Amino acid sequence: MSESKAKDLKKELFSKKKNAGLIMSESEIKKADDFCKGYMRFLDAAKTEREAVRESVRLLEENGFVEYDFKNALKPGDKIYINNRGKAIIAAIIGSGNVTEGFRINAAHIDSPRLDLKQNPVYEDNEIGFFKTHYYGGIKKYQWTTIPLALHGVIINSKNEKIVVNIGESEDDPVFCVCDLLPHLATQQMKRTLSEGVKGEELNILIGSRPFKDDEESEMVKLNIIDILNKKYGIVEDDFISAELEAVPAFKARDIGFDRSMIGSYGQDDRVCAYTALKALLDCDCIPNKTVITVLTDKEETGSDGNTGLNSSYLKYFIYDLAEKLSGNARQVISSSECLSADVNAAFDPTFPDVLEIRNASKINYGVCVTKFTGSRGKSGTSDASAEFVARIRNLLDSKDVIWQTGELGKVDLGGGGTVAQYIANLNIDVIDVGVPVLSMHAPFEVTSKIDTYMAYKAFKVFIED
Ligand code: MN
Ligand code: MN
Repeated sequence: MSESKAKDLKKELFSKKKNAGLIMSESEIKKADDFCKGYMRFLDAAKTEREAVRESVRLLEENGFVEYDFKNALKPGDKIYINNRGKAIIAAIIGSGNVTEGFRINAAHIDSPRLDLKQNPVYEDNEIGFFKTHYYGGIKKYQWTTIPLALHGVIINSKNEKIVVNIGESEDDPVFCVCDLLPHLATQQMKRTLSEGVKGEELNILIGSRPFKDDEESEMVKLNIIDILNKKYGIVEDDFISAELEAVPAFKARDIGFDRSMIGSYGQDDRVCAYTALKALLDCDCIPNKTVITVLTDKEETGSDGNTGLNSSYLKYFIYDLAEKLSGNARQVISSSECLSADVNAAFDPTFPDVLEIRNASKINYGVCVTKFTGSRGKSGTSDASAEFVARIRNLLDSKDVIWQTGELGKVDLGGGGTVAQYIANLNIDVIDVGVPVLSMHAPFEVTSKIDTYMAYKAFKVFIED
């Protein structure tokens, strides 16, 4: 008797979280798999923040959104977007309800760790041509050697013309790479720590080796490369000074596993939340009560500073301007707004169990992860969502059959990280991190679960449709 009573009590009282694959119907799992096909196309089309904005604009316009000018009147149901310098974007659907009740915001970032070219990048050393790079965001430098790299970005020439660069993605394009030392001669290198194994100034990208035919002059390999670039793009060496060129992995998003349950790709932090938050807005087919907004921001990986990052005022100004346009008090509107900071979390990796505290770590296939706080040490650098707001989101997700879990970024004192949540909270908005668990985060090839990705989409959708 006591045995079954304990069993019943456990059933009633203990947490019921389990692998989503055990809970979802076959047809819902199929929906998740199908949803991820669009996500994987987005990953391939949007490897940089600029490309993510361009691809988002394409999807928004396809779905009836128009670029907004604040001179124009607004009415419920209007679908608008504004493009911040081609590197960040805010899209919104105007709600039908009382504007002073605030807006609903999903905020994700579209920049990812990568190798940026320096402003004077081209050089020749011992008759081999290279680019000097300066890495962007938190990377393990050794992971960026000996993989094919593509070059994406823009060059603005002396006539102020913008040249868009995208080399290494099509099958017949050349690719580039960073070389590493052969193990036979790496005895000294192997004694370096992992963080110093390959140093920042050793991340030099191989770009050519054939000299311009001239026996008299020096730097003939460099000359030959710049001559090729001049013929292709009309640029000269100094044009790199006003360029933003990013070296990113040249491979495409792929299914992972015999069961195809996972996705491997560059840039899933945070395109997995950017795409799902954008898709939630695109698929919102009713006129929402509250005005709903999706923000896709830049510069999260370097701390959110800069005028395309969320530590700037561009989101605040947008909300203020929208509030005024809708005849609301801007401060009242922003203070009653709510936001999901849509960003990834570290998934538990059984190969490296020591860094995560298993009872409070996110696991792949356990659904979208709700993270109350990020930061490091004693919750430094985090907004820490209130219990009230956590309850509101928890109950919303439960009531709409969104499979979710909670998790924190690593063991106490072992490291940490932040998201845009704190900058949104500092505007006096209720905010909590909600996103997808990722394996190998910040590596050139990051891994997510298709089910978790689909559950993130559902979470962002029920939040704006609620
Ligand atoms: Mn992120
Ligand atoms: Mn990140």
